[in-house]
Amino acid sequence: MKKHNFYAGPSILSQYTIDHCVDAIRDFAGTGLSILEISHRSKEFTAVMDEVEALFKELLDIPAGYRVLFLGGGASTQFCMVPMNLLKTKAAYLNTGTWANKAIKEAKLFGEVIEVGSSKEDNYTYIPKGYTVPTDVDYFHITTNNTIYGTEIREDYDVPVRMVADMSSDIFSRPVDVSKYDLIYGGAQKNMAPAGVTFVIVKEDILGQFPADRIVPTMMNYQTHVDKGSMFNTPPVFPIYAALQTLKWYKEIGGIKEMQRIDEEKAAVLYDAIDASRLFVGTVRPEDRSIMNVCFVMKPEYKELEKDFLDFAGTKGIVGIKGHRSVGGFRASLYNALPLASVKVLVEAMKEFEAKH
Ligand SMILES: *Cc1c(COP(=O)(O)O)cnc(C)c1O
Repeated sequence: MKKHNFYAGPSILSQYTIDHCVDAIRDFAGTGLSILEISHRSKEFTAVMDEVEALFKELLDIPAGYRVLFLGGGASTQFCMVPMNLLKTKAAYLNTGTWANKAIKEAKLFGEVIEVGSSKEDNYTYIPKGYTVPTDVDYFHITTNNTIYGTEIREDYDVPVRMVADMSSDIFSRPVDVSKYDLIYGGAQKNMAPAGVTFVIVKEDILGQFPADRIVPTMMNYQTHVDKGSMFNTPPVFPIYAALQTLKWYKEIGGIKEMQRIDEEKAAVLYDAIDASRLFVGTVRPEDRSIMNVCFVMKPEYKELEKDFLDFAGTKGIVGIKGHRSVGGFRASLYNALPLASVKVLVEAMKEFEAKH
C-alpha cells in the first residue's frame, strides 16, 4: 500500500533525492565507486561540496559576505556553538517551545540570558509579540518554526541587534531575507536530507570576536569551518550529497517561491478541514499556525476516539501523525517533499472517520 509519510523528522524526502542517492550508492559520478566509500577529498566530492554551497546561496538568495557550512552534531550542537562563539555578556532569546528552551539552557553556560518573551504559560500555543529586545545584547535568538507545538514565525524581524535563528524545520519553505540575520542554522533532516548534517549560514564578519578569555575548541569554532570550507575534518558525506539532490529538486520545481506556494496550499487544505470538523480542533492560535507542522486534537467530548483515529489512518497508509507527547493528539508534518495528494488522503480519512462517529 502507498504510504503517506507525515513524520516530523527525520522525514519524507523527494523521490528525486531518493533516486539520485540510490544511483550514487551504486556508482558515484562515474567513479565506479559508491558515494559511501570515497574520500571526501576526492575531486568528485569536493565538486559536490562546492555545488551544494553555491546552490544553497542561489536558492535562498544569500547576499555576499555569508558562508554556508555543513557540519555534524545536529542543530543541538548549534545550541552551544552559537553562544560559545557569539555571546560575550548577555543574549536575548524568545521562548517558543522545547527547542528554544534547549537553546536557552546552553546559552546560560556562557553568559546572561534575557527571555524577552515566552508563551510557556499557554503551552506554547502562540508566538509572543509586543516585547522589546534590549539594544545591549550580543544577539537575539529565535526559533522560526516550533516543530513540536506547531507555531511558526513566517517573517523576518527587524531588530537593532544581531539576529540568530534556528530554522531546522522550515528552511526552504519561504524566501528569507538573510541580510537580517547574522547566523541561521538547522538540522537538515526535515526539509533537506537524511539525518547527519547541519547547515549553518554565517555572516563572515561576525566571527573571531568571542571574549579573549574564552577558549573555543577547534571543532567548536566557526572560523575553523569557514577557513576549510566545511572540510576541516570528514564532513557527513552522504547526507551532504542527499542535500544537494534536494536543492536540485527545489530548483527544478521552480525555486523557493514556488515551494512556498505549494506548502501554503497544503497547509490551507488541512487547516480548513480541521476548522470545518465536528471532531477535530487545532491547538494553535490561527495567526501563528505553522505551515510545516500541523497540530490538532480531538475535541474534549470525542477525546477517547484519538487512538481509534490513529488506527483508522494507519489503514489508509497514513504514517507518523501521532502527536508529540507535550501536545498529544495529532501532528501532521507537511514538509516540502510531502505531496498535496497525501494531505488530501489525510483529509478524506478525517471526513470518513467523522461520518462514522
Ligand atoms: C529537530 C529540531 C532540532 C534538533 O535537531 P537535531 O539535529 O536533532 O539536534 C532543533 N530545533 C528544531 C526547531 C528542530 O525542529
